[in-house]
Amino acid sequence: MKRILLASPRGYCAGVERAVDTVEQALDLWGPPVYVRKQIVHNIHVVRDLEERGAIFVETETEVPPGATVVFSAHGVAPSVHDNARRLELKTIDATCPLVTKVHSEARHYAKAGYTIVLVGHAGHEEVEGTMGEAPDSIVLVESPEEAETIELPDGPLAYITQTTLSVDETNEVIDVLRRRFPRIEAPKKEDICYATTNRQRAVKAMLGSIDLLLVIGSRNSSNSNRLVEVARAAGVMSYLIDDETEIEEAWLDGVETVGVTSGASAPERLVERVLDWFAARGVTNVSPFAEEREDIFFKLPAQVRPGAAAGTPSG
Ligand code: SF4
Repeated sequence: MKRILLASPRGYCAGVERAVDTVEQALDLWGPPVYVRKQIVHNIHVVRDLEERGAIFVETETEVPPGATVVFSAHGVAPSVHDNARRLELKTIDATCPLVTKVHSEARHYAKAGYTIVLVGHAGHEEVEGTMGEAPDSIVLVESPEEAETIELPDGPLAYITQTTLSVDETNEVIDVLRRRFPRIEAPKKEDICYATTNRQRAVKAMLGSIDLLLVIGSRNSSNSNRLVEVARAAGVMSYLIDDETEIEEAWLDGVETVGVTSGASAPERLVERVLDWFAARGVTNVSPFAEEREDIFFKLPAQVRPGAAAGTPSG
């Protein structure tokens, strides 16, 4: 093996940065324990680090002791979760990514106007559960082009919205089918797949012709990371999802000259450095960025944890 090409952009998006900072700030302001509903972002290293600092991750808000502080994860929550938190008098900090919040408000808007909403996404993903919870009686989930071919929708106004971290290409296929079968279907002005998902897929596609293997750093439950692996495999390039360098198998490198490395939106850059160190220890030090593309999106922290927020004042 001769060299490594680094995809750009890769790694943390603005929504993940904000969510992780939110928990860190909450710990700084109020001290442990700070409860977090679900994994704050889908990365096992991030979750472990925050656990070491005193964050306690729970599956549901009902596990949080009454009166305690709970952070909602970047993937968003259904309104019923807010209701439960109010009932239990929890202090809540909502770290939902603003781009997920946008999809929630589209769901509410269409549902209020009497639309049937097709949500393109993956069953069981937390973001999908949260979005469906906004209008459970109006939303129908579609997971694939095949499902879009067979789904039956009622008469009346129709719209589609999507999960933020899907494959751009596969989603376009689903939308093409929906538009062909239901020509009157409407959609939000700005698409729901977020900038970070789109940019990371584009960056991978751009370098596929120059690499023999793509390593994607990200956790198994990270939707956007899985989609990066799929983008490479769909183009016939071998690709694996790894949590860190300990999961690299030497056999993958047989006959490989150039390895591409990227990381999902929830994977910290230090994991990329660890992978590069692993290769350096095996004599591969020729590392270059494939193309440098900067992202300058930034989201403000939730008000309760912005710098200058007074200690002891999360909203109840
Ligand atoms: S991947 Fe996109 S939607 Fe998800 S947290 Fe990042 S910016 Fe927000």
